Amino acid sequence: MTRYMSTNIFGKEEYYCNTCNKDLSKKEIDQWCCIHCNDQVEIDAGLSHTIMRKLPEDVTKDDIYVFPSGEFHEIYEVGKKKGEIYYNIKGYRQHPQYSNEWVNCKYQ
Ligand SMILES: [Zn+2]
Repeated sequence: MTRYMSTNIFGKEEYYCNTCNKDLSKKEIDQWCCIHCNDQVEIDAGLSHTIMRKLPEDVTKDDIYVFPSGEFHEIYEVGKKKGEIYYNIKGYRQHPQYSNEWVNCKYQ
């Protein structure tokens, strides 16, 4: 299995599981899921919305992409070119996605 090493982490983050109704420490998170229930971890990074981290291949056009700057942008198309995933982002250019990098999305 590919190890996902690269993650764009925002300065100060707090983690929460909505299913368990509790704050999570980093030890309670594996692959950005709660180790107790395996649900997606909600991340409060001090941005205008909370976020979550997804694998590049799990991102769909229903996700809202979060730029490293903390801006939220709608994705209108997810595509693949020569095995590489890319996102077409509304009001922006095409964004090539590294396949070993976690993707910051709006939590929903
Ligand atoms: Zn949980």
